[in-house]
Amino acid sequence: MKVIFHPRYMDHQHPSTHPERPERLEGILVKLDSLSLVDDILFPEEMEKDVSKLVHTDRYLRSLSTMTSDYLDGGDTFVSSETYEIARMAVSGALLSVDEAMKKNKNIALLRPPGHHAGADYGGGFCYLNNIAIGARFADLDRVAIVDIDSHHGNGTSDIFYSDSEVLYISTHHHGIYPGTGVSVAVGEDQGEGYNVNVAFPAGSGDSSMNLAFDDIIDPILKQYSPQLILVSLGTDGHYADVMTGLSLSSQCYIDTCKKLASLSDELCGGRISYMLEGGYHIPSLAEITAGIVSDEEVELEFTKDLDKNKKGEEAVLDTINALHKYWEL
Ligand SMILES: [Zn+2]
Repeated sequence: MKVIFHPRYMDHQHPSTHPERPERLEGILVKLDSLSLVDDILFPEEMEKDVSKLVHTDRYLRSLSTMTSDYLDGGDTFVSSETYEIARMAVSGALLSVDEAMKKNKNIALLRPPGHHAGADYGGGFCYLNNIAIGARFADLDRVAIVDIDSHHGNGTSDIFYSDSEVLYISTHHHGIYPGTGVSVAVGEDQGEGYNVNVAFPAGSGDSSMNLAFDDIIDPILKQYSPQLILVSLGTDGHYADVMTGLSLSSQCYIDTCKKLASLSDELCGGRISYMLEGGYHIPSLAEITAGIVSDEEVELEFTKDLDKNKKGEEAVLDTINALHKYWEL
């Protein structure tokens, strides 16, 4: 699998200790290198036109481009004089990722800063420009599916496509933490009604809950939607070793979920799939999950505990089915 990366992604810095740090990408690259998985790194070029306008308002882009030392939200999302340029380079990575996927080259884009909390006219949650949303618009297709497995609800992506049927948004996340959105009954509106899917897991939900959500919701909806392209917001902060959120997923579950999505892309859209990095702050688990996705072979894993034998998220899955069964056969 091809890996998309740009050295500028390492230059994005917050002023003090911050979980969204360059070492995340460094950890991934060291791990990929140790397994000889970095032969095929693609570097995006700076975009010529500002395709961010496909998603973001002029006013928001103007304000982001002129900020030099400020915060977008309560101290979490710092903007330096370099931030806008680096965030645009992450968007360029997303565009390259979509281009490669359209050529049936499965790929993973190791983007920094992440994007799924950025809406049309706002940023926050360590996000400035919504990489995956811009990528989905840039693809210019009738049916793009975004599957967001970061442990936070991708409120930005959800808002952008809330009344849109051309982009299906499916999110599995830890309910009740930042950003506080993504309840099961938020199913979209107008043209987009039924095209916004939220599985809002309680704390402690892990592998068996995620597998249930995959089998009973993600798999059937994707098959019925028949996407022309699948984009994955890959966040690993629901891992049991990641203290950022309270889900209890194992590395194997993340890798299996991503491989199942790859198989679905083979079945439904000629293998057109790309994974774009969002969160994931426990570097060893982030690194081994990424390696497991990139590698064709099984990778030896350190974090393999199954902490969800009782399917803690079963009721959340049922809530989602109840909210959506009039739109999809579930
Ligand atoms: Zn997250």
